[in-house]
Amino acid sequence: MQCITCGEPVGLRVSAKGYSDEEITRMEIFDDALRSKSWDDYRRRFDAKRTEEEHRIKAEWNRQYEHYRQTDEWKHKRSKVILRAQGLCEACRDRPATQAHHTTYAHVGREFLFELVAVCEPCHRSMHASIHSRFLKDLFHTAMVFCSTGNESQEGGR
Ligand SMILES: [Zn+2]
Ligand SMILES: [Zn+2]
Repeated sequence: MQCITCGEPVGLRVSAKGYSDEEITRMEIFDDALRSKSWDDYRRRFDAKRTEEEHRIKAEWNRQYEHYRQTDEWKHKRSKVILRAQGLCEACRDRPATQAHHTTYAHVGREFLFELVAVCEPCHRSMHASIHSRFLKDLFHTAMVFCSTGNESQEGGR
């Protein structure tokens, strides 16, 4: 027998209660389309939920990242990176560096200084305009960790 709600085979376990004779007769003919429609509906709901969850995590990431960028800890790191570059943008070596760019988001909040480069605003802007998708993937995975631990260093014993 096939459940006419979810399309799955249910053996003889389905209760006749709440179904008409006509519906029970229909359950005896296995309808593959009903089953795959039910799976499609499930997949659609699952995808929608996952997309919603991704948006939520990204929004939370942005919120925490903006907060982190205002901290003295970040400002201190940025000034060390700019000092290391003798105050010049490491991308063009023409203009003064005013910002620090993450070459990876793997350790946001507890960056190693070699993961940061000193850049000027125009170079930084063009860098982000052409950022690699691998970089964004990296960001998304870190976002989940970063958002759940905040920007405190949490090494987890490693
Ligand atoms: Zn530059
Ligand atoms: Zn950047």
